[in-house]
Amino acid sequence: MAPYRHIFGPVASRRLGRSLGVDIVPAKYCSLDCIFCEVGRTTLKTTERRPYLAPGPIIEELKAFLAQAPTPDYVTITGSGEPTLNTYLGQIIDQIRAITTRPIALLTNGTLFYRPDVRQEAAKADVVLPTLDAPDQETFERIHRPDPTIRLEQVVEGLVQFRRQYQGQIWLEVFVVAGINTDPGKVQQLKALIGRISPDKIHLNTAVRPTADQDVPVPPLSTLERIAATLGPNCQLIVDPKDLSTGSDLHVDAQMVLALLQRRPSTLAQLADGLAVTTEALRPVIEQMLSSGQIAAEQWADNVFYRPAHPA
Ligand code: SF4
Repeated sequence: MAPYRHIFGPVASRRLGRSLGVDIVPAKYCSLDCIFCEVGRTTLKTTERRPYLAPGPIIEELKAFLAQAPTPDYVTITGSGEPTLNTYLGQIIDQIRAITTRPIALLTNGTLFYRPDVRQEAAKADVVLPTLDAPDQETFERIHRPDPTIRLEQVVEGLVQFRRQYQGQIWLEVFVVAGINTDPGKVQQLKALIGRISPDKIHLNTAVRPTADQDVPVPPLSTLERIAATLGPNCQLIVDPKDLSTGSDLHVDAQMVLALLQRRPSTLAQLADGLAVTTEALRPVIEQMLSSGQIAAEQWADNVFYRPAHPA
């Protein structure tokens, strides 16, 4: 199988089931540099939209993948940076929809939704998953290290505007960092901001994989449960991956594994879930990649995660 450059997975997403990733910006161009980013540190921090990647090569890869692989639950626009930076976003969504009936999700940090063009293009997706976890500018800067032009109030107002014009689902991620946004007063303030956006779901998340910064503080379950209770009945914890392993006989090669690990460090079980194979089938591929120096193993809490040994 030829290596994929623009699509990866499917990954076993705690939010979207079996999610086939579509990467539409270079690694790693983003308007933020979040301490919890699984891709690593931002190399180009920008809010400038540019035609980074045209639809053609993406659609060709997607067609080839869908012709030979199990159907994903979602085709998810995401990847190695902030996808709304790509001015082709709307065209890419249109062209994905033309070749598959699977729902299209957009994972975004939401920082560019103050722009009417971004809102208009994002509204083509079936589900939009922005992130909002800070009740004030100082907390926002501690967690996300934004481009200096970005103001939290502008981010919130952009998402409020989007809610008014968008008929699809908004599933808001709240990323919890112990000691930074866990204070009950801050959670109440955040609740007020979220209430203005009125998302369909709130997903409470925390660091369960290796992150850009070492030692991002993870709150105990009791803290997450308290925050979830404060944020209301449409808030759910997403700290455990959905069990998606079906043991299908999709052929897995090193390129598929590498494409996935370049976007997201993963354990053997997470890789197997995402690729719909058994861990037994995947283990020899991983061992071969370790011995050839393509990937490296890293201990994180009680798990072993795999990463590419060299940057893409
Ligand atoms: S987590 Fe998302 S928004 Fe934050 S730095 Fe990484 S790619 Fe950018």
